[in-house]
Amino acid sequence: MTTRRVGLWLIGACGGVGSTAALGLAALSRGLTDTTSLVTALPMFDVVDLDGPEQFVVGGHEIRQAGFRQTVAELHERSNVFDEGLIAACQGQLAEWEANVRPGTVLGAGPTIARLADRPEVHRAETTREAIAQIEGDIADFRARNSLDQVVVVNVSSTEPPYETGDAHASFPQLARTLDRRPPAVPASSIYAFAALDLGLPYVNFTPSLGATIPALEELALARKTVIAGKDGKTGETLLKTVLAPMFKHRNWQILSWVGHNIFGNRDGLVLDDPVNKSSKIKTKDQVISGVVGYRPQTHVSIEYIESLDDWKTAWNHIHFKGFLGTKMIMQVIWQGCDSLLAGPLVLDLARLALLSQRRGEAGVLRHLACFFKNPHGVGVHDFFEQFAMLEGYVRGITEGR
Ligand code: NAD
Repeated sequence: MTTRRVGLWLIGACGGVGSTAALGLAALSRGLTDTTSLVTALPMFDVVDLDGPEQFVVGGHEIRQAGFRQTVAELHERSNVFDEGLIAACQGQLAEWEANVRPGTVLGAGPTIARLADRPEVHRAETTREAIAQIEGDIADFRARNSLDQVVVVNVSSTEPPYETGDAHASFPQLARTLDRRPPAVPASSIYAFAALDLGLPYVNFTPSLGATIPALEELALARKTVIAGKDGKTGETLLKTVLAPMFKHRNWQILSWVGHNIFGNRDGLVLDDPVNKSSKIKTKDQVISGVVGYRPQTHVSIEYIESLDDWKTAWNHIHFKGFLGTKMIMQVIWQGCDSLLAGPLVLDLARLALLSQRRGEAGVLRHLACFFKNPHGVGVHDFFEQFAMLEGYVRGITEGR
């Protein structure tokens, strides 16, 4: 039995996804729930040395005063999720982990996210250099205080507006020259990624924000011998699209149009109600069909904030396609899922797999994690089955000693 201790550092720690991941870890380590929904609990991983839930300590950055306990209580009350007994049994653990949460930064995060912030310290850093120093200090302190062998940083913070990339992002030396620039040359998600990678820690981007998807930060990951993965967790509607689109492809049906209409009411939905922030999400959701079938049917993705739905998302998909003798047919699918409960376990999977890769001495983009993301970093494959085969191939490689 390994005595390794590892840290999970969440950016946007006390949001719906971060708090569900923390509650899930606490519940799993106490044997209060089973491993349903954890990909890394599938039998194919039995041969792999992954960290168990009891080995994790949780901390993170947040811009609001909220803690894990408050968010868990809100999710329970408003969305009717989590068993009361389970919440009660995990209160002490969540309180302990809450004490590890530090004020983050809103530098470059855009006005809608800045308006969410009610911790005054999040405006302290005025340059990228100052913000990186603050973030690195917090994570290094967490690691030292808890005597952690490894720490993985996972971004589960609000979706930022899209960021134009250019010369400043093309190489690490070019990015390093912008560190004192006002306004910053990169958004908050990339500032956090910079800090994590600079410390030699794995960085996973569960959001559509820019994060580490720029050549400058890919270079930094290689230089510090650490790993990166992203972006935008594939949890619900897009997962369904990348499972269904291969069916149309393999039956040689021609998709004419695919309309996806999403309605939900959590804080993520509130931030995505800003058309600029929303455009980042629509971009990662809208590209997957042409990525699978190899041509561009007409597509439309809409996302609407409907407050009363809270964390329950409904996605109606209308697929118009052409079959034999030119006959046009329609498939309609309604997906209803609880957003945080779909995402939380994947955060734990990604943390375990990123820590494993780093221990194995891998560096750079973890392409075998593509099945977890809407817009997989460094991978053009969107077909879920092909992506999953990449993950299986990776595990087989470990067992065969590659
Ligand atoms: P949320 O609004 O509940 O949580 C986001 C948290 O991030 C908030 O607590 C917010 O205060 C915090 N935050 C915002 N900017 C920050 C910053 N610069 N530094 C530190 N903290 C910051 O949203 P959520 O539902 O938990 O979703 C989190 C992210 O995961 C979103 O970007 C969302 O698009 C993405 N995502 C979610 C799902 C899913 O829930 N099924 C799927 C894929 C991607």
